Amino acid sequence: MEIIQLPVLSDNYIYIVTCEETGMTGVVDPASADPVIAYLMAKNKTLDCIFNTHHHEDHTGGNEKLLQRYPDCEIVAPASETARIPDIDVPVKDGSTVRLGMCTAKVMEVPGHTTGHVIYWFEKQNALFCGDSLFSLGCGRMFEGTPEQMWASLKKIRSLPDETHVYCAHEYTLDNAGFAETIEATNPLLKSYRKKIEKMRSKNEPTVPSVLAIEKSINPFLRCDHPEVKKAVGMEQADPAAVFAEIRKRKDNFRG
Ligand code: ZN
Ligand code: FE
Repeated sequence: MEIIQLPVLSDNYIYIVTCEETGMTGVVDPASADPVIAYLMAKNKTLDCIFNTHHHEDHTGGNEKLLQRYPDCEIVAPASETARIPDIDVPVKDGSTVRLGMCTAKVMEVPGHTTGHVIYWFEKQNALFCGDSLFSLGCGRMFEGTPEQMWASLKKIRSLPDETHVYCAHEYTLDNAGFAETIEATNPLLKSYRKKIEKMRSKNEPTVPSVLAIEKSINPFLRCDHPEVKKAVGMEQADPAAVFAEIRKRKDNFRG
């Protein structure tokens, strides 16, 4: 599977995915249509499907125009979001399997950022398209879910293999690193990773995709049940979901 990353808007990433055996091409979370059309035209490709992770405009904004340009293109999106995502052809839910040519993705529901948020895991390709559920060193804002829900969603993501590449939808990593250091100031891996991404950003390189093994070791939102993280927020005896709620609240109020 070929994965092309298009930076759009101020900090969004759109992913164009192609099954190399069949040439079938899809796009994940098209914030806007024009950059996608320009890319496809330059490569002489057509569009077979759109994968939406959730209903937000910066993930679905290009749907309508792409559908006009490629009328046979199918929209794959959460079954629970038919009221907020128009024209869904393939409604998906937890446990669904979707195909792009010979490539298969498992769908997982990860409520929290929005109630209907899903992620697409291409297991064989080690590629996870996780929208705004997980970011490198961060996670999405909790707009619609509860801390319990979102913590459960993050644990689901954390259960995937270490070598999974995390294709999240925003370039927030450097800001997130500043916050992560307020929680785990002494985590040596976090320090060295921050140096690495500072270098990358100074050259305007993307820090995404990340690798899940790295996120498991330095993303505070995936570590709410680790003693050192609990201790850092003074909640040694608390439930991990409560620790998550506290860290999420601190992040919402963080000005780096
Ligand atoms: Zn969003
Ligand atoms: Fe977003």
